[in-house]
Amino acid sequence: MSSEEQSNAAAARRWREAIMPTYGTPGLELASGSGCTVTDAEGNTYLDLLGGIAVAALGHAHPAVASAVSEQITKLGHVSNFYSHEPELRLAERLLQLAGVDGNGRVFFCNSGSEANEAALKIARRTGRPNVVAADRGFHGRTMGALALTGQPEKQTPFEPLPTGVSHVPFGDAAALDEAVDEDTAAIVLEPVQGEAGVIIPPEGYLQSAREIADRNGALLILDEVQTGIGRTGYWFAFQRCGIVPDVITLAKGLGGGLPLGACIGVGRAAFLLEAGQHATTFGGNPVCCAAALAVLHTIESEGLLEHACRVGKEIIAAIERLEHPAVKEVRGLGMLLAVELDGDIAAAAAESARERGYLINPVRPDTLRLAPPLILDEQRANEFVRDLAEVLSEAHGGEG
Ligand code: PLP
Repeated sequence: MSSEEQSNAAAARRWREAIMPTYGTPGLELASGSGCTVTDAEGNTYLDLLGGIAVAALGHAHPAVASAVSEQITKLGHVSNFYSHEPELRLAERLLQLAGVDGNGRVFFCNSGSEANEAALKIARRTGRPNVVAADRGFHGRTMGALALTGQPEKQTPFEPLPTGVSHVPFGDAAALDEAVDEDTAAIVLEPVQGEAGVIIPPEGYLQSAREIADRNGALLILDEVQTGIGRTGYWFAFQRCGIVPDVITLAKGLGGGLPLGACIGVGRAAFLLEAGQHATTFGGNPVCCAAALAVLHTIESEGLLEHACRVGKEIIAAIERLEHPAVKEVRGLGMLLAVELDGDIAAAAAESARERGYLINPVRPDTLRLAPPLILDEQRANEFVRDLAEVLSEAHGGEG
């Protein structure tokens, strides 16, 4: 065993002894990050095309986030939820403006995407109706309520019984949704683009149909924008490309610039279904996290990162298509949420080969790589990656191409 292999094995052993497994044995212990790169404990640097799983919208250690955080922590680091504070109020107002629902919405802050969806499920329960319709292969988190919404039986079965009343229909099929929704349906819960399922973009008109079906049946439309929101798809919110407004929007990931922050936005009647005392969390809306989020929103706007994400994302898709590599079946995505579907279950091998070449990418499915890089990724780095991807794919695909 080389000394590098020995130290990797020691790190993996240490990790297994001290930390419960989440996504499996980590290949790396990361020590620092700056912009689009991260550096491991051995001093190797990687281009982070996973972005903390769609979290690091501004990249790592962005000065605007760092100074907002350090300023806020020296001023007021925590308040109980008997009180509010300026960063929380400003952030709520800004999110409502960006969603186009100011004057007609209210925000509940929490600490993660799962928690945001738990709040959404509680809002749905408060309609007095028993059922929720969600989508096959959808992912909404792993706490018990969020897991009930998640349409992935392999993640659910070990934890049954889950909260009841949730059924799942094929994603993207408006007729199936229409058939499943009735007067007992409290809410339809969907991702505008399914992230964990492999970056699945529904057919045009699907979200508009979901809006219409919800309205016709008196149900809420809950859109989980945990992965797609805050600029990830080139819009503040992915629903904005469809010209609809949901009743509930859930957010996390990119919102806090790497700090734990989730939000559940209620619009119209959904903003008033939870009454005082019915739901809360100790750390939700933490001042430091809210200050970081305000810096994220300000920077996305002032640096034109929505347009940038659209442009560079399209360029990555076009550049991968231009490779005409035999291992690539399809490249798809919106903004900086991208997937490369491969010929065979070679995504893990490709991700490993990419890591050896200095890139972090994610095998989101056995046959699909996901890219969710910082929105600040520039064209030059993106093109360098695509050039190296050709080699990575050839290696993983058994030398072809
Ligand atoms: N919803 C979606 C669409 C997600 O992609 C995720 C995480 O990947 C979640 C919810 C859960 O978020 P968290 O891991 O912050 O609980």
